[in-house]
Parts: sequence; structure tokens; C-alpha cells
Amino acid sequence: MENLVSAKNTSEVIKRHDFSFQKRFGQNFLIDEHVLNKIVDAAGICGDDCVLEIGPGIGTMTQRLCERAKKVVAVEIDSKLIPILSETMSLYENVKIINADIMKTDLNKLFEAEFGTSDVKVVANLPYYITTPIVMALLEQHLPISQITVMVQKEVAQRMQAGPGTKDYGALSLAVQYYADTYIAANVPPNCFMPRPKVGSSVIRLSVRKHPAVDVENEKFMFELIRAAFNQRRKTLVNALVNHAALSCSRDEVQSALRELGLNENIRGETLDLRQFSALANILT
Ligand code: SAM
Repeated sequence: MENLVSAKNTSEVIKRHDFSFQKRFGQNFLIDEHVLNKIVDAAGICGDDCVLEIGPGIGTMTQRLCERAKKVVAVEIDSKLIPILSETMSLYENVKIINADIMKTDLNKLFEAEFGTSDVKVVANLPYYITTPIVMALLEQHLPISQITVMVQKEVAQRMQAGPGTKDYGALSLAVQYYADTYIAANVPPNCFMPRPKVGSSVIRLSVRKHPAVDVENEKFMFELIRAAFNQRRKTLVNALVNHAALSCSRDEVQSALRELGLNENIRGETLDLRQFSALANILT
């Protein structure tokens, strides 16, 4: 099967199958070989690897993954792409295509059925409308994932990697960095896709930690506290937390916790790092 990753070959496959792009599925197919290599290299795929691909499209990246990995499972929502994938993937024996919505898939069951006890690498050019929920689902469900290498909107990659005191820093940065080390492997312009998206993209690799970055007694409470802190970014941390009903913390409690941590009472949430948020959560829990 001819290499799909070019505008010419992608157009040819699409025309032959009379396929039309579905905007609602975030379909922007990769047509740049250099970028394709960047993703697969950043993921460091080798012969022992089990790979989950989300949204294979016409199989452009799936082919490359199959050439390098032991097994590839690709979950595609659009049933119109299934006959195309049957053709483009016909020469590969280490691939399984599943026609399903990844957001409605029981990930624990899928991993157990397809990969047994092996560690899994997730690789995807993600449909942008589900980037955050799917990345968080993959991280939060404590699945046997060693690494997630994904193409996302550039701005989302920057938010995932941002540190305290920067404009991009927020609840997503802390949530991702609690579970994983982040590395932006490439920035990718719109002309590398068909059709062209309106925004720039980045390839980000999340290396999942064996243990979360900090010790926290109640994860749920810490993330609620983080959400509260960034919900009202302009307020002081004390005001943001006291006004957040779900936390039920009194002003005195928050002020005394900040004093215990050696933090100023007028501090804003956006200046605290993950360690400080976890320490604060542990005191207030
Ligand atoms: N991997 C291909 C490539 O790089 O050319 C296609 C990437 S395209 C950005 C996103 C793909 O995800 C599309 O094939 C789309 O149909 C599929 N998709 C969208 N929503 C999905 C969902 N909820 N579950 C599974 N696949 C989905």
C-alpha cells in the first residue's frame, strides 16, 4: 500500500471512496510526512509496543504505527471511514480497527481485552473537540498507559505545559502535570492538514508517572480547590476558596492554612505550584 501521507494520495483515496469530511468529527487529516515522523519519533515506538490510536482517519498514521509497533488498536467513530481503513490497512496483521466513539468506550474493558497486562502508548492526531476530556479520561482512570503523544491545538498544549504565574497556567496545567511530565515535541502549521484547521497545532508528549507528582490525601478535594482558585482568577485565593460552596472552608481556616505554609494572605491562586496546592489541600481536607 502506497504511503498515504501526502495531499495527492489523501485526495486520491478520499475521491475513490466518495468520502466527505465531517466537521463535527474534527476531521483534519495529516498530509505532511515530516510531521508524521515527528509524532511517531516523539512517541519512541518500537517493536515491543502496544499502541492505542484514537481517530485513525484514513489510516495515514496507523500504517506508520503498524510498521513500528507490536500491536495497534485504532478506535474510529466515523463508520464511513471503516471501508477505507479496511483497504489502506489490508497489508497489516498487527492492527485492529474498532468502529466506536472513544468518549463512550469503557477504557478499562478495552485495555484489558486488547492489551491484557501490557503497558500501552497512546498516539493520536486528536479531534480538537474532545482533546481535554479524552486526555483527562486517559490520565484519571489509572490505566496501564506509559505515554500519551498527541497532536492538539497549540494553545491547549501550552496550557498543559504552563507553569505558575504565566497566562496559560490553570487547572488543566495542574491536572496534567499531576499525572505526567510534559514535552512539546513540535509546533505544526495548518497547511500540514487536509482540510486546513483555523488554528495552529502542537505535538505534546505526556510521560505518565508511576506515582503522581505530589502526595495528596484527597485528590478530588485538591482538584475542586484548584478549580475554585482558577474560577475566580482575579480574586485573592482566600476569597476564591471561601466563596466556593463545594469546598465549605471558612475564611479563618484558609487564612490559617496559608500562614502555616508561609504564604501571604493576599496571594492569588495562579502563583501557587502543584506542591503548594497539594499542601494546602492536605491541611484543609
Ligand atoms: N489520524 C488521522 C490523521 O492524522 O490523518 C485523522 C485525525 S483527525 C484530526 C481526527 C479523527 O478522529 C477523525 O478520523 C475522526 O473521525 C475521529 N474521531 C472524532 N471523534 C471521535 C471519537 N469520539 N471517537 C473516535 N474517533 C473520533
